[in-house]
Amino acid sequence: MSCLFCSIVAGEIPSKLVYEDDAALAFLDINPWHAGHTLVIPKEHVETVLEDSSILAEIAPAIVATAALLTAKLGADGMNVLSNAGGVSGQEVFHAHVHLIPRYANLPGIAGMSMREDGIDLNEIHARIVN
Ligand code: AMP
Ligand code: ZN
Repeated sequence: MSCLFCSIVAGEIPSKLVYEDDAALAFLDINPWHAGHTLVIPKEHVETVLEDSSILAEIAPAIVATAALLTAKLGADGMNVLSNAGGVSGQEVFHAHVHLIPRYANLPGIAGMSMREDGIDLNEIHARIVN
């Protein structure tokens, strides 16, 4: 069965990688809600973070390290840490992932999370994070 995020783990599909450890990868979301929107995924294929009790623990170090990196490099004022589990929740890619959505003081609150910023340049954001 083909899986988009397994193909990214295998290096068959390019991604804008920002962090990697033994258990996880973190790369920029291709369609960001806010600058620096990143997905943290387990390298092993599981459908959702709720599939078993170890998935979130395995990727927790990567989630925390990536959030710290985004905050330091992009000057985020806060972060939404979110995972959709199941199609009705909005999950579209059925390889578990945690969204890290950096938040900025100019668009605060939970309602502001889904107010997509226009004109985010992924190459420019990626360069700011990795350099
Ligand atoms: P979800 O709706 O929680 O399953 O989120 C899936 C996310 O994957 C969406 O935010 C998409 O923009 C993102 N996405 C889809 N394809 C890619 C890709 N090739 N590289 C990076 N992010 C992707
Ligand atoms: Zn997969």
